[in-house]
Amino acid sequence: MDGYSVRKVIGTGSFGRALLVQSRINHENYVMKEILLPKTQSKMANTRREAVLLSRMKHSSIVAFRDSFEGDGHLYIVMEFCGGGDLLQRIQQQKNTLFSQDTILKWFAQMCSGTKHIHDKRVLHRDLKSKNIFLTDDGTVKLGDFGSACVLNSAKAYAHTYVGTPYYVSPEIWDSKPYNNKSDVWSLGCVLYELCTLRHPFQAPSWKSLIMKVCRGSYPPLPQHLPYELHYLIKQMFKTNPKDRPSLHTILTSHRVAGLLHRHL
Ligand code: ADP
Ligand code: MG
Repeated sequence: MDGYSVRKVIGTGSFGRALLVQSRINHENYVMKEILLPKTQSKMANTRREAVLLSRMKHSSIVAFRDSFEGDGHLYIVMEFCGGGDLLQRIQQQKNTLFSQDTILKWFAQMCSGTKHIHDKRVLHRDLKSKNIFLTDDGTVKLGDFGSACVLNSAKAYAHTYVGTPYYVSPEIWDSKPYNNKSDVWSLGCVLYELCTLRHPFQAPSWKSLIMKVCRGSYPPLPQHLPYELHYLIKQMFKTNPKDRPSLHTILTSHRVAGLLHRHL
């Protein structure tokens, strides 16, 4: 704590606060997440997992971990500050002006390579959504918020209690099946669709009808002007059976869209 001075609060959640801080050593800005540590040992391990898993990631499209420490019953995670806000805000700023195809492909390519890095380390993010994707000052996107992340095939992957926004939740989760790498692919498909249309793919007036739409995989068509590869990719990412969805590896290497994405990486 002594190494940083607090500049302002940039977010508050159920976990605690996200603070914009400045290092007293290099005078750079960072985000410090301050999370209240629970009393029981098992819950404490859950909370610490966020810092442990984020610290294992090293990728240009993932918010860089700097430091973590504990004190006063709190866990502090210090990470790279993304000055451009989150992608949800950015989408809302557009009003009704669609993003250019180049912007969509660039951001999506960055999200895919970040998510592939996570999956290559046998970690699942489990809360990919536009609100957890941050923009840097120079207009690139980075994945953040590892508060729901877990190690693949761990007991945790089987016990997912979803507390956030339901828009990005895949059919298998509503069906109480374990979370897997393809569930992240589904969520990423939701973000790609949002970039293309500025709307959620699955929206409904009630939970029940939302879940029905998700489990049928039925979403309003994409704008016609988008390239065929994007139409095809979204269709594949929204396959209701996770086995039929492409992995990040496939999307980035052998999928029809791979060529388009690599031009933007
Ligand atoms: P949670 O969703 O669990 O409350 P997040 O990690 O998403 O926690 O952080 C909460 C908010 O703090 C984010 O929505 C964002 O506004 C801000 N924030 C978090 N990390 C960063 C970051 N690295 N750069 C910029 N803003 C961030
Ligand atoms: Mg978040």
